[in-house]
Amino acid sequence: MNERDSEQVAHSLIELGYERAANESEADVVLLNTCSVRDMADQKALGKMGMLGRMANERPHVVFGFLGCMAQARGESLLKNLPHVDLVVGTQKFHRVADYVENLRQRKAAGAMDDPRFSIIDIEEEVGSQSTIRKQQLAPRQSTAFVSIMQGCNMHCTFCIVPQTRGAERSRTIEEIVDEIRELVSAGVKEVTLLGQIVNLYGRHEFPKINHKSPFVQLLEAAHEIEGLERLRFTSPHPIGFREDLIDAYRHLPKLVDHLHLPVQSGSNKILKAMHRTYTAEKYVDLVRRVRDARKGIAVTTDIIVGFPGETEEDFQQTRTLVEQVQFDNAFVFRYSPRRDTPASEMADQIDERTKERRNHDLLDIVNRSAVRINQRLVGQTLEVLCEGPSKTNPSRLMGRARTNKIVLFEGSDDFPGRLVEVRIERATGFSLYGSPVRAAATIAL
Ligand code: SF4
Repeated sequence: MNERDSEQVAHSLIELGYERAANESEADVVLLNTCSVRDMADQKALGKMGMLGRMANERPHVVFGFLGCMAQARGESLLKNLPHVDLVVGTQKFHRVADYVENLRQRKAAGAMDDPRFSIIDIEEEVGSQSTIRKQQLAPRQSTAFVSIMQGCNMHCTFCIVPQTRGAERSRTIEEIVDEIRELVSAGVKEVTLLGQIVNLYGRHEFPKINHKSPFVQLLEAAHEIEGLERLRFTSPHPIGFREDLIDAYRHLPKLVDHLHLPVQSGSNKILKAMHRTYTAEKYVDLVRRVRDARKGIAVTTDIIVGFPGETEEDFQQTRTLVEQVQFDNAFVFRYSPRRDTPASEMADQIDERTKERRNHDLLDIVNRSAVRINQRLVGQTLEVLCEGPSKTNPSRLMGRARTNKIVLFEGSDDFPGRLVEVRIERATGFSLYGSPVRAAATIAL
């Protein structure tokens, strides 16, 4: 979601005539779009801005800004130790950034910025802000794009700062979203990922169910109709509200990819309750089973938090059991990170870091084993891969994603990026698949 928000800001600056700088030391405007979901992300952004402060002395005309969740949560206090910061803009105001930057540059040019009171801070709520993330700057032959369909979250999981930083749930209309996707497809995009904090609950406060279908399923169906769109992804859903209509979408919407990222967070019902995740481990396992029945071969990935306050060895064993049972294709395992002003940070029985670390490693081992096992079954198969471009780690190879979202690395010609390519898999690790192209498909029949 941050990537998508950053793209919106970049687009609005480019429209005003700005260009992307190769690196921050050449830039006239340096904006850090921040994440607050874990303390480490906060610390990283603060450290980075501190380092940039040295540059501010040598290049006083440069505009420095914090955007996003940390800006929203900390507001003006960010200026206290970082006096070179000119701009603090929250999560509902990304569309105002370009104007603020222009204003600050003019003031700096006029020499009016020595007084810190001239910094701009805007962390207010804004009605309709969910509809302002709608433009992006596509790179040549860009084949994938994120589309923000809603903002905010009303779930109040006890560990999570997002409802404070992103506000209450607000959704765009289906028409607006479909128009944006159509525009992207006409510019060459073949795959879109619909983004929301609890994406499957899209529109539940604004739009009615029609024929027992939730607004989210109505949106999937409308997007599916778009000619030229080859793949439809979404992230991240919540097990609550993941009903039969959405499971059924995997049966009748072939463009919906073979991947579901469904955060479970814990395998212990006691911990799920303390997290305010209002499902049980059994319900989660059953949900995955039903999705797998609806779409054979679907890859399932998840998020898990270890070391939540009060997590005993027995609770952790229950998470291990669930992970063994589900056999995830992959999982993000996080050590619980207390976030300011969240209920969990005040709970008794906080778990020590060593225990969190041990549980984290233990779980990652299990996840990695299942990832390797599942990926190795793909050796010898031919997969449809959407080629994104040269691999970041080895630019002599191309990188793309299978419909299961697995990363596929292969050698191929310069005209592959942006196209669907059939790749025969020859080798697999837990993270990537390696293969050789069989042929590039002009179109794939669905
Ligand atoms: S559903 Fe997701 S975004 Fe919402 S409170 Fe829970 S963890 Fe945070």
